[in-house]
Amino acid sequence: MDDRDTQIRVRIAPSPTGYLHVGTARTALFNYLFARTKRGAFLLRIEDTDLKRSREEMVGSIIEGLKWMKLNWDEDIIYQSDYFDDYRKKAIELLDKGLAYWCYCTPDEIEERRKKALKAEGGWIYDRRCHNLSKQEMEKFEREGRPKALRFFIPPEYTVCQDLIHGEIKRENSEIEDFVLIKSDGAPTYNFAVVLDDHRMRITHVLRGDDHITNTPKQILLYKAFGFELPQFGHVPLILGKDHSKLSKRHGAVSLSYYKDEGFLPEAFVNYLAFLGWSPKTEKEIFSIDELIDSFAIENIHKTPAIFDIERLEWINREWMNRLGIKEVASRLEEYLKGSGIIVDNREYLENIVEAMGNRPKKLKHFIEYGQYFFTDDFSYDEEGAKKYFYPDLEDRIKVLLKYIRDLEPFTKDAIENVFREISEKLECKAAELIHPVRLGVSGMRVGPGLFKLIEVLGKESVIKRLEKLVEYLGGVDFK
Ligand code: GLU
Repeated sequence: MDDRDTQIRVRIAPSPTGYLHVGTARTALFNYLFARTKRGAFLLRIEDTDLKRSREEMVGSIIEGLKWMKLNWDEDIIYQSDYFDDYRKKAIELLDKGLAYWCYCTPDEIEERRKKALKAEGGWIYDRRCHNLSKQEMEKFEREGRPKALRFFIPPEYTVCQDLIHGEIKRENSEIEDFVLIKSDGAPTYNFAVVLDDHRMRITHVLRGDDHITNTPKQILLYKAFGFELPQFGHVPLILGKDHSKLSKRHGAVSLSYYKDEGFLPEAFVNYLAFLGWSPKTEKEIFSIDELIDSFAIENIHKTPAIFDIERLEWINREWMNRLGIKEVASRLEEYLKGSGIIVDNREYLENIVEAMGNRPKKLKHFIEYGQYFFTDDFSYDEEGAKKYFYPDLEDRIKVLLKYIRDLEPFTKDAIENVFREISEKLECKAAELIHPVRLGVSGMRVGPGLFKLIEVLGKESVIKRLEKLVEYLGGVDFK
């Protein structure tokens, strides 16, 4: 018995022609969970045979994205571009066995025949024109220096795939084109390379998106042509946008880095992704990666597409913030702010902010969007708020408030509340006539945490500075 019989080996095989797509991240997660539930190996292969479209920076973004989700792979990364010679050697093997043939048709010629056929009958696959070329014809084409591609000869009958998710999928071979193995520029095609790689890497289970279902029979035929043992295939449902079309940029961001930049926690993102096309068949919704590993089963992957719902993601993210707790969220926030160029090296201050903001922030970015005033003195007063809440007597009232605030010790929420009560009694005004304008004065905004808590968190020094600035501002307003 070799390893193949004992160890489950799966892989994720992104093409570095774009950033790590949410769909690829989800497929990676399913493969990772499957490997971990089975004590198997999870591998990463970069499918960079398309040298024109593959980009180094995309490889970096894929690696960074997988690491952010903590989907650690078990062996060295495999790069397809390291195996060009191998693909060619194996292609020639098929040629020598009579299972593949050179095709000299140019793309223009093929297009012309396709168009003609489409007009006449509605469907066209490569017509095997080059399959039985005479020796003279071939020599002529070679002399002309025509580019040639190597095509796989599809045998008759049909191909069956026992799909782990969809059950039996049967395809008539007559519907499958003699597809290209090696392109005229010498590069292998996806369908060819993937079979050789999966075999070489001893992959036992190929879990990938539904969009590859039509490729699988082609690959199975190649496995058979080489006499390789078949892996098991499972096609996971696609992720769709809310309008039920394939998730694309139209629906918002599809690149993983966007979600990181928005301040979603990796735990929450992974939790959310797991539920796109899978469910544990319980009511429980918040799962750590270890809990996912404990619950994951391929049988519970859905057959139908999943819908990407950003509000659901935000909800899960908020749940995760609560689960991680104030101290941990503050520590994540510190890192996140740093990434946005905001340095706050006072952990206690950050913890107080997290506590004061309560459940309002659904992602770390919201701390900046809703609470910018925590990190800078440089803000302006909400225009509508200023119109509504600033009034002629306010300047004098703020001066009184300032006096009290300067002397206030200890500077706590309750003590601050008492000051407001005392002043409104003394000046015979409603508490609201102080609360609303002071909120604008210390934060620039009309909404936020409870004002007394907010003042406590900002601290005496900062609040004094801000109220002084407000007095100065009010002095310059013409209320007529
Ligand atoms: N490079 C292919 C993709 O990104 C891999 C498909 C597969 O897993 O075989 O879709």
